[in-house]
Amino acid sequence: MNPAIAKKKIPLLDLAAIHAPLREEILGEIARVVDSQKFIMGDDVKQLEQLVAQYTGTRFAVGCASGSDALFLALLAAGVGPDDRVLTTPYSFFATAGAISRAGAVPVFADIEPGTYNIDAAKACHALERDPSIKAVIPVHLFGACADMDPILDVAKRQGCAVIEDGAQSIGAEYKGRKAQSMGDIGCISFFPSKNLGGFGDGGMVTTNDEGLARKLAALRVHGSLKKYYHEWVGINSRLDTLQAAVLKVKFRYLDEWTAGRQRNAEHYHRLLGGKSLPLSLPAPMPWQTRHVYNQFVVRCKDRDGLKAWLQENGVGTEVYYPLSLHLQPCFKDLGYVEGDFPESEKASHETLALPVHSAMSVDDIEYVCDLIHDFRSSLQGVH
Ligand SMILES: *Cc1c(COP(=O)(O)O)cnc(C)c1O
Repeated sequence: MNPAIAKKKIPLLDLAAIHAPLREEILGEIARVVDSQKFIMGDDVKQLEQLVAQYTGTRFAVGCASGSDALFLALLAAGVGPDDRVLTTPYSFFATAGAISRAGAVPVFADIEPGTYNIDAAKACHALERDPSIKAVIPVHLFGACADMDPILDVAKRQGCAVIEDGAQSIGAEYKGRKAQSMGDIGCISFFPSKNLGGFGDGGMVTTNDEGLARKLAALRVHGSLKKYYHEWVGINSRLDTLQAAVLKVKFRYLDEWTAGRQRNAEHYHRLLGGKSLPLSLPAPMPWQTRHVYNQFVVRCKDRDGLKAWLQENGVGTEVYYPLSLHLQPCFKDLGYVEGDFPESEKASHETLALPVHSAMSVDDIEYVCDLIHDFRSSLQGVH
C-alpha cells in the first residue's frame, strides 16, 4: 500500500457512528419509559410486535428476551421435547443447536453449500426423507441471506415436520419475493446489538401466521400462562423489556436505510474485488435471492488467519464466523460426530472471514479495505 495513504481505523461494526444521530431521540424514549415506571411488556412491546409482524409479512409477532430464547420458545411451541430429533445446519451461531438441546431434543445436521454457507437444501431433504421421525427443521438464513427454502418446505410439509426459521441475522431478507421469517411455521429474530436491528441489550421475537401457535408462544414466554397464575404449559420467563422495545421502535425506522447502506457496500466489494486474481472468493450469488441484507459480508481465503492479521495491522476489524462447526463442539461430544462428517462446514470454519460492511462506512473506507486486500495478494506472491 502506498505509504502516503493515511491509515484508517475501520471497526467491523461501528455502533457509535450509527447511534450518534439518534442519541437525543433514543434518550427521549428511554426517559419516557423511565418516567412511566412501566418496565415489563406494555404498549411499546405491542407496537414493536405489530411493526415486525407487518415488516416480515406475518400475522403475529411475539417479543421475547433474546434470539436464543426465540428459538427455544419456537421448539417448545412446535411440541419438540425429549429425544425428538431436530435437523439443522452445522455452520451457525451456537444458539441454533443449543436451543435444540435445551428442549431436550437431539440436534442432527446436514452439511452446507460451499458458496452461500447456508444449509444444502438437497442434503437437508435427503436427511428428512431418510428419517421421517425428525420433528422439526431449523434452516438458518446465515449472514443475511435466505436458505433455499422451497425444497425443505416441501418435504417438511409432506412429513409433518415443523419448519422454524432462524432469522437472527436476516430481518428484512427475502427469498423469491417472500419475506424471511414468514415461510416456515415460526420465524425467529434476534435484537442482539450486532444484528441489523439491534437493541441496547438482549432481545428477540418470534413470528408466525398460525393463530394457535401465536397464542402458545405468547403464553410460553410468561411461564405458559394464558391467564395470570393459571398455567397451560410449562414455559419460561422470556419477555422483551419495555426499554428495549422503545429503543428498537426508534431504530426500526432506520432499518431499511441501514440495509441499503450494507447492500451498497457489498456491491462496492464485488466491484473492487470481483473478477480479479485474488486469493479469495466472494459470497456466491444466489439465483433465488431477492434481498440479501448483509448482516455480514463473508469472504473465503486459504490463508484466512494471515489475511485477518494483515487487516488488523492496518486498522481493519474482521471476525471469524464461525471457527468451530457445531457438530464438533465439546458439549456435543456425546452425539458422536467426528471430523470429516460435514466437510463443507469444517472447511468454511477454517477459511471464512467477515469484512466490515456496516452502513456507516464510506466508499473510501471500502476502497481502503480492498486496497489492503490487493496488497495482501502481492505480499503473498512476493514472499511465497
Ligand atoms: C445471534 C444469533 C442467535 C441468537 O440470538 P441472541 O439474541 O444473541 O440470543 C441465534 N442464531 C443465529 C444464527 C444468530 O446469529
